[in-house]
Amino acid sequence: KSGFVSIIGRPNVGKSTFLNRVIGQKIAIMSDKPQTTRNKVQGVYTTDDAQIIFIDTPGIHKPKHRLGDFMMKVATNALREVDAILFMVNVTEPRGAGDDFIIEKLKGLDTPIILVMNKIDMIHPDEIPAVIEQYKNQLDFAAYVPISALQGNNVEPLLKEIKKLL
Ligand code: GDP
Ligand code: MG
Repeated sequence: KSGFVSIIGRPNVGKSTFLNRVIGQKIAIMSDKPQTTRNKVQGVYTTDDAQIIFIDTPGIHKPKHRLGDFMMKVATNALREVDAILFMVNVTEPRGAGDDFIIEKLKGLDTPIILVMNKIDMIHPDEIPAVIEQYKNQLDFAAYVPISALQGNNVEPLLKEIKKLL
């Protein structure tokens, strides 16, 4: 199995931390180089049975640097071409304008979306259902996966969920 996965989320939700954990330090540093392609490859996760190519879609998660209508359309179309989208949120903060900006961009896409609830090391497990409540009516999610990118909790099950969508 092989496919493309886009990681979307407002700044500081833990996207880079997640990539570092899954792919490793070297690639993450490489990914900081500016690239001009519309889908920039951030790293490739390879196992015996799967290859997941993580990409960043510029323009989707930067409300402060709004692109023009045309570039926004380019960014949204890029999301149609991936096999899965990881929409990463921070469970330590309520859903906010930055999250809603992304939700608007994701509406109407056919691409399966996994809600990745990051930083669960900061909350009690009992609080996770309330996080799901905040998002479940916004989009049609393929799966809800709580993780700690920092500590590595539940990252393997997330990779398993991604593989199901490839
Ligand atoms: P990005 O902007 O989405 O790429 O976010 P980063 O990966 O740069 O992370 C932003 C901050 O959140 C950093 O200080 C990380 O150490 C921290 N962080 C990321 N993931 C976790 C997590 O699972 N738990 C905790 N407690 N902190 C995290
Ligand atoms: Mg980052």
